Amino acid sequence: MYWLSSRCCSSSGNTSSRRIRPSEVQLFTISELGWVLGNGASIKFLDDVWIGKKPLKESLSSTFLEPSPTIREVLLDQNHHLCSIIPHDLDQLQLSSHKDICVLAATNKGTFTLKSAYDQVRSHGVKHSPFYRIWHRHFSRRASMFSWLLLHRAVPVDDHIAECGINLPSHCCCCRRPHVEDMNHLFVHSDLAKGLWLWVSPVLHAGHGIHMNISLRLWDIIKSCSLTNPHDFITIYCSMLIVWEVWKIRCKMKFEQVKYSSNLLRQNIHALVTIAIENMVFNDAGTPQQMEAIVELGFFVQPIVKLGKLVRWFPPLQGLALNIDGASKGNPSPCGGGGLVRNAYGTVVLALSHFYAAGTSLLAEAQAMCDGVQLAVEQGIFIAEIYSDSMTLVNSFRTGLSPSWDCHRWWRFVLDFVHHHGVRVSHVYREANQVADALANFA
Ligand SMILES: [Zn+2]
Repeated sequence: MYWLSSRCCSSSGNTSSRRIRPSEVQLFTISELGWVLGNGASIKFLDDVWIGKKPLKESLSSTFLEPSPTIREVLLDQNHHLCSIIPHDLDQLQLSSHKDICVLAATNKGTFTLKSAYDQVRSHGVKHSPFYRIWHRHFSRRASMFSWLLLHRAVPVDDHIAECGINLPSHCCCCRRPHVEDMNHLFVHSDLAKGLWLWVSPVLHAGHGIHMNISLRLWDIIKSCSLTNPHDFITIYCSMLIVWEVWKIRCKMKFEQVKYSSNLLRQNIHALVTIAIENMVFNDAGTPQQMEAIVELGFFVQPIVKLGKLVRWFPPLQGLALNIDGASKGNPSPCGGGGLVRNAYGTVVLALSHFYAAGTSLLAEAQAMCDGVQLAVEQGIFIAEIYSDSMTLVNSFRTGLSPSWDCHRWWRFVLDFVHHHGVRVSHVYREANQVADALANFA
């Protein structure tokens, strides 16, 4: 089965539409379709994707030439020769009365719509080159402009002018000893520049000061620092201001014979950076070491104040409460789930911890919830409330829409249970779900 999609929608009558270029066309092949098991009547046992990421016949060593039976045909016949190839952890597969659902595996909802297809093939987010960082709105425009010139090696130092065929006697005014003036010397090795780089050394990352080429040094700093962190913001802006201030002073000394004071330069840079950080709100506070480095340089950044909220586990008003949690060390990666049932006094009635192989945290959460409910039913325990720290999962029971097609099987079991017994599913903060979290991590 093939579906045609494209990077853009070309609906006629829409003024923003445009023609689809052949390079933008992408095919969704059968391997991108998955099946959620219901009564098993529509799923081809060997040919369709219903366990793992590819059809069973592709992952098996032996080849099957006969047409594939449906899952229903295989599971209802205990002696069917294909029963033996079902993986061990799936040997308790149960058919339900629901219909099988075909999903677009690459999407979360699993539905094939123009939007879901478009979301698959479009590029997400706006990617900016680190180069844009020099144009931050709180940076001095002149410093930004000069940094741009420096990164393009377009600064009219003596050496550069000589390269253009105009040979003048060259003399660096920023050193006590006579030296030819070239870009790397003026902005890295001159007495003036050396003192300033030494001054900002506490905020420079290891390895930033090693480039003797000033353009590479500045580019390295801009590339590795983000502007959301106060430490990195100060590092970038100080570096840009150092080159800009050195250039200004160099021109003044060369053409106006003005004497410079290195201290005055530092004060200028300090004042400009202070004004910039006063206007900034940083999302990221930075590490204590970074904050120390900032203070060492004489800067003060207002720390982000977060209001505290009292969080605790609330016992159920009546009956028993099930707390569940899923743990995954990445998405996707090996995951597990845990949970426990407690009464109104906080006494643990039962607890579970189960490893689920590869999956996402949401998948682990849904499976853990299903396991918790199944175990409670088997033990004859009546659950009145279910607590989870996954807002997505909790909301899905309110809306009745599965949060993701791959956890649909377990989610539907819990949904049926919740509807049938009038059980409440509520969200709790992670801090109030610590025991279940520990059990999930243990799994
Ligand atoms: Zn010099």
